[in-house]
Amino acid sequence: MNLLRAMLDSRTSPPVLISACLLGVRCRYDGNHSLCKALVGSLSRIRPIAVCPEQMGGLPTPREPANIIGGHGPDVMVGKAKCINRAGQDVTEQFVKGAHETLRLARLTGAKVFIGKERSPSCGLKTPYCEAPGGLGTGVTASLLEKEGISVIEIGPQSPFPTPESTEILESIHQHP
Ligand code: SF4
Repeated sequence: MNLLRAMLDSRTSPPVLISACLLGVRCRYDGNHSLCKALVGSLSRIRPIAVCPEQMGGLPTPREPANIIGGHGPDVMVGKAKCINRAGQDVTEQFVKGAHETLRLARLTGAKVFIGKERSPSCGLKTPYCEAPGGLGTGVTASLLEKEGISVIEIGPQSPFPTPESTEILESIHQHP
């Protein structure tokens, strides 16, 4: 039995934060989900904690989609960029609150890994929904979690799971909980 399987089979595995939409929760801006079947297929062997930073920040579902204007996630967290939705409303406060609430949950549960939905201005590592130089930037929540030492794995509905990269990260938190 390899280490990953041993870790996944253990009831003492460290908890892992996961974007709720990847688990099939209909929390996306359009009221839909982004179910990742490969990830859900591993749920019996990991301890998932579902989070939706935009809902946790107080935004409703469905809601207007938002872009990061003037930078990307790290810029939002220091007040140098804003989150503006399609209706032109400033939702920066809700995005920042959602990031902090997600971090608070990580601290409460001891989670050291976040599996985030790709292409999201909240949860993504390489979101196009921002004005980062080069066109791709980090989402607001993903950037705060990374800054605070939480490993972020980015996946989408069609992604395989686990991958060699995610296996390495998950093995490392099992070895150093
Ligand atoms: S990507 Fe993140 S913020 Fe957007 S719906 Fe999914 S969990 Fe919520």
